[in-house]
Amino acid sequence: MKKSETKSIVLLRHHLKALKLPTMHAECEKIAQRCAADNADHLAYLLQLCELELLDRERRAAERRMKAARFPSYKTLENFDFRAQPSVNKILVSELMRCLYIENRENILLVGNAGTGKTHLATALAVEACGRGKRVRFVRVTELITQRMEAREERELGRLKKQLNRLDLLVLDELGYVPASKLGAELLFDVISTAYERTSLIITTNLPFEQWSEVLGSERLTGAALDRLTHRCHILECNGQSYRLKDAKRRQGQQHKDLGGSAPEPPASSPPGEPPRPQPEDPAGSDSSS
Ligand code: ADP
Ligand code: MG
Repeated sequence: MKKSETKSIVLLRHHLKALKLPTMHAECEKIAQRCAADNADHLAYLLQLCELELLDRERRAAERRMKAARFPSYKTLENFDFRAQPSVNKILVSELMRCLYIENRENILLVGNAGTGKTHLATALAVEACGRGKRVRFVRVTELITQRMEAREERELGRLKKQLNRLDLLVLDELGYVPASKLGAELLFDVISTAYERTSLIITTNLPFEQWSEVLGSERLTGAALDRLTHRCHILECNGQSYRLKDAKRRQGQQHKDLGGSAPEPPASSPPGEPPRPQPEDPAGSDSSS
């Protein structure tokens, strides 16, 4: 390499660093050599570098969005078995994966008993939204209420509200397992009404609408919350046997086969005299992804 070329590269690297173009900074020399070998002109060189920087930037932003969403576990539609849960409307799920509901500020309610894949589907939908450049946050309802109760000061609550306003999609997982206190219910209602027509919500719940007042306390608050949530909303019903329970039974059956045993026992029932172990249907015993 000529002396003038070395100087140019050093200067170029310096400028690219100052301009905060890390991928161009890292790749400029290698791509220059490749372009020289391919007889590619200056424009082709610049184009290749810009493309690399853009791709890398998008990848870094996607990683940041995924981290900021704080998913409890990574789930996608590819590993959701629709045959195992025939009650789930597959066509509607595929349609929702296009994320138009977010553009239209619509909500999704996933309703059904424990272990039927509500959290899995909610996560898969939200992961897809992240991949499409949407700002997403996943939170359990109890966690959200605790966080807001602790943020007693107006200033702190205001900050959380601003955070919510910046989101495109908020996933509220597990509405209904624990009844909220009066203040908790009001704080939850505040989140729902702040999000109304601004941020899409995905809510997973084991409660049919008639029972929402058991969580939110008053009929008045429940009516107002449901009115906002269901104004523009897609409902996905997940009913049937718990996937966890079926999976546990299947694995136990497999174990018995491997050991050359006979008919499998039902899973996780307690020996006499011991307190009952949480069954997979029991929300208190659900894993971190539920
Ligand atoms: P829920 O939120 O309805 O209680 P989850 O979504 O947490 O249920 O599902 C419980 C576990 O079973 C999770 O690990 C989830 O990935 C898995 N699961 C549930 N339904 C299915 C399914 N149809 N196909 C594959 N895995 C499933
Ligand atoms: Mg769940």
